Amino acid sequence: MLNALKVRWAQGYQTVDHIRQVELNQRFRGLPVIESRACPEDCQACVEVCPSQAIQLSPVRIDLGKCIFCPDCSKVCPAEKIHFTPDYHLSCNEREGLVVGSQTQHPAVKTEERIKQIFGRSLKLRSVSAGGCNGCEMELNALANVNFDMGRFGIEFTASPRHADGLVLTGPISENMAPALQATFDAIPSPKIVIAVGACGISGGVFAASPALDRRFLEKIPVDLYIPGCPPHPLTFLNGLLDLLGKKYS
Ligand code: SF4
Ligand code: SF4
Repeated sequence: MLNALKVRWAQGYQTVDHIRQVELNQRFRGLPVIESRACPEDCQACVEVCPSQAIQLSPVRIDLGKCIFCPDCSKVCPAEKIHFTPDYHLSCNEREGLVVGSQTQHPAVKTEERIKQIFGRSLKLRSVSAGGCNGCEMELNALANVNFDMGRFGIEFTASPRHADGLVLTGPISENMAPALQATFDAIPSPKIVIAVGACGISGGVFAASPALDRRFLEKIPVDLYIPGCPPHPLTFLNGLLDLLGKKYS
């Protein structure tokens, strides 16, 4: 018993306190910075190497809703225009806001007053893995651990859609999972929100062109929050959601 207490004491306080300002290791690949200097003529190296068709040229822009942060574009660029920073504030409530270039604004989440009023004090979410690799789900699981402790903000995952206020979509939506996704959404009582997580959930990611997908769900149902990444960092999810809810936190 004494040994167990000693170990617990040595572990100290493990919860991330300042989820807004905490600095991640420099090796973490978050927000890309795109320099404004000109590309060499006819160069398309970044477009050709990108596995998820996330890059547009003239000027260079990266769609964070498609990017898997590999980061091959920055390696092949002869002009060294693309760098990845450890900035994990990547979420946005508008799809267009995820496209970043040298002149674009930082992706941001606007607080939705209607959502804040209804769910600001308590939000229960039902997660649906619609054909993904389980990477996003592992990061969502981490939100409940002692480090991120999402429950302290009144946000939790729930086992039944009947008890949920919102749907968290991961995965590119395989044909086989499309009916389950729709059924889960239908089972959540209104009002409800939808959160698309990861490159797969947002755009189909590297599977976007697969004939095995059925993404018509997203043509009918509006998304309230996009959380980019492959997989997204738990802090990306947490900061985005707290911004959407207008929650006060240190
Ligand atoms: S880091 Fe993103 S934009 Fe760059 S090559 Fe990889 S997937 Fe494409
Ligand atoms: S960003 Fe780099 S790799 Fe891409 S077109 Fe410009 S110079 Fe070429």
